[in-house]
Amino acid sequence: MNAEIVSIGTELLLGHTVNTNAAYLSKELAKAGVNVYYHTVVGDNRKRLHSALKQALKRSELIITTGGLGPTVDDITVEALSRVSKRKLVFKPQILRRLKLKFSKRGLAFPEVNRRQAYIPEGAIAMRNPSGTAPGLILKMAKSRFLIALPGVPGEMKDITQTGLIPFLKRKLKTKVIIVSKTLKTVGLPESAVNEKVTDLLKLGPEVTVGIYPYPGQVDLRITARAVNKSAANKLIGGVEKEIRQRLGNIIYGKDKDTLEAVVGKLLKKHKKNLAVAESCTGGLVTHRITNIPGSSAYFLLGITAYSNRIKSAQLGIHSQIIKKHGAVSQKVALSLAEGARRLAKSNVALGITGIAGPTGGTKSKPVGTVYIALTANNFQQVKKHLFLGNREAIKQKTSQAAFDILRRYLENHPGICCS
Ligand code: ATP
Ligand code: MG
Repeated sequence: MNAEIVSIGTELLLGHTVNTNAAYLSKELAKAGVNVYYHTVVGDNRKRLHSALKQALKRSELIITTGGLGPTVDDITVEALSRVSKRKLVFKPQILRRLKLKFSKRGLAFPEVNRRQAYIPEGAIAMRNPSGTAPGLILKMAKSRFLIALPGVPGEMKDITQTGLIPFLKRKLKTKVIIVSKTLKTVGLPESAVNEKVTDLLKLGPEVTVGIYPYPGQVDLRITARAVNKSAANKLIGGVEKEIRQRLGNIIYGKDKDTLEAVVGKLLKKHKKNLAVAESCTGGLVTHRITNIPGSSAYFLLGITAYSNRIKSAQLGIHSQIIKKHGAVSQKVALSLAEGARRLAKSNVALGITGIAGPTGGTKSKPVGTVYIALTANNFQQVKKHLFLGNREAIKQKTSQAAFDILRRYLENHPGICCS
């Protein structure tokens, strides 16, 4: 069965409301084995809604609308369903009784305007709306096509999806295909380089597919399998995952809901190490991200944002001569930041971060995006230079990713005595 989601609401077209309903429904339908082929967004306009529904009926077996089920005159979905299905609106006393009960239970008078919601297209099945007034509707059309209407309010839409729509689809669906996905998360290589390593896998299909999703400082690979049950789907995923892991090695830092900072946090805990950070161009982002992890106080000791050179000297003991000689954005200053933080916090490990986030401040020898990240530990120090592309925020994000990654790699190898 293939589906189309028709999101109704001028606020969606104007960009005032993000279409989270379509995203939610797509995920739920995929889980139920329904392929969503189209997302359509249309405003609260009779003519355009009719034509969107007509077009959807031509190409999709299951059409799910959201929005416009309210009691006011600008809510036109039921009327549009009646028109495209050529079924007249009929009054349902039972729906009215339920509506009145909802109001009386809360000690409220019944607003006459809500009477409108008791009219539904002839033959439609009403799905109860536990948290609102407008019932969801199921309308069977010719050639086993279904028109489904759900409210726009996200909470109500979700409730009816779980209690009415999904059970209905499960009863209807003859083929019991389920869709399972697994995401592998990578750090350290740009999208083009990751792409190159898995190009052939991106063309797999149809029962198992691989998609590539780039973010600043991170590339995700999502493996999706269609199978008759979960274990068959997992088996398909397992085969492709093994291949990807062999090719990408330790640039894969985690899966699904893992975050890089949480993975690093776990490693710090595992190796009984604690951390201090002195950041300049990231303005506290590394500290912010690590302290977002519950329980990070077990391993995170200090985060200092040393933005000005005066603070770099006064708080972290970096001699002003060093800054003058090498520049604030330099290997030497990155190392001194890390050492200063480690000294101050008496930590096992420390990071020092300095760079040019732009858009101004770049020079020929140190263009915008030049970043130095240093890691120091007992008898160990390492500095990496990067040249990141992107706007100020992207450069900050990429820098924080690279900082966590240098730490991840250090902790994974947990070297005793080394140098670099
Ligand atoms: P109501 O009874 O509140 O009028 P309704 O079914 O008529 O409900 P709408 O009026 O279209 O729904 O929208 C109600 C609320 O839900 C609005 O705040 C709107 O921004 C939000 N909403 C509508 N459609 C979506 C969507 N596709 N994604 C996220 N939010 C939405
Ligand atoms: Mg409305």
